Amino acid sequence: MPRRMVVKSLRTVGRCLPSGIRRRVRSVARRAGVPLPADYWWLMHETGRVGRLASGGPKRCNICGWSGETFLGVAHVESAICPVCSSSGRDRFLLWCAGRDDAVTLRSTRVLETSPRLGADYRAMMRHHFKYRASDYDQSAHRGDIRIDLQRIELPDASIDLLLTPHVLEHVPDTATALAEIHRVLAPNGRMYLQVPMVRGKTSAPTEPEFHADNTPVFWNFGWDLTGMLRTAGFETQVLVTAGFARLLTGETEPPPPDPHDFDVADLIKHVPIGDYTIAADDGEADAMGWLPPYQFATWECIRR
Ligand SMILES: [Zn+2]
Repeated sequence: MPRRMVVKSLRTVGRCLPSGIRRRVRSVARRAGVPLPADYWWLMHETGRVGRLASGGPKRCNICGWSGETFLGVAHVESAICPVCSSSGRDRFLLWCAGRDDAVTLRSTRVLETSPRLGADYRAMMRHHFKYRASDYDQSAHRGDIRIDLQRIELPDASIDLLLTPHVLEHVPDTATALAEIHRVLAPNGRMYLQVPMVRGKTSAPTEPEFHADNTPVFWNFGWDLTGMLRTAGFETQVLVTAGFARLLTGETEPPPPDPHDFDVADLIKHVPIGDYTIAADDGEADAMGWLPPYQFATWECIRR
């Protein structure tokens, strides 16, 4: 039976079992190397405060398993903070997107994450599930397992199965060299899940010096045309969005009024390439996970062929 079908059957059976038994079955299945539904990976981490399942309300965190009435902060890609693990909306969307690939449920998956925003608890959880390493270029906030310059990655060819790279590429001067290096270190059929802040439709360099919170300079403000750069580098790629974002892009819903200090939604709609995006979360999922407003959430899924 194909692995995708095994995962689907497990998910169906798993939902019918009481949670205590479900946890035990998962633990045995994991040791036996059976691929498990990615949505539940955090349930397998039962030590410490990260990974405990609570059923406290309609909002939920796919990183630590918290659920409750409301996230902290405002509805924004950098906010909607989980009160337990401090994940932001984009942290949760990145792992949700990566969870589309059944391979990430395997303990043997070699995962590299560049500059994860979350600290020790998150990294320990990832290490518990995968062969996980975090890299930090600027080590003032966190000390990563390795230090990596994406333009010259000191790792062997084909040594990574899954690369998570949230909000890093915009800080790298030479995009083409960085993408070539990523392509080199990914194993055949390996994947990268890539997020950049996309506030306008087309890529441009900042007109005046721009820095993000950790004082790292921004070299590029990427738009939809990043997809073409990824394809030139040899990736099969599409942009994963929420159903709400897709409705804005197709004109089914009206864009919000322009805000000069925030996302230029009209420009995002104007430049969207037809057929280059895929819906990865429906309205119920986006509401539960805090992925609002919808136009702020996009992740490039890149497969190395
Ligand atoms: Zn959480």
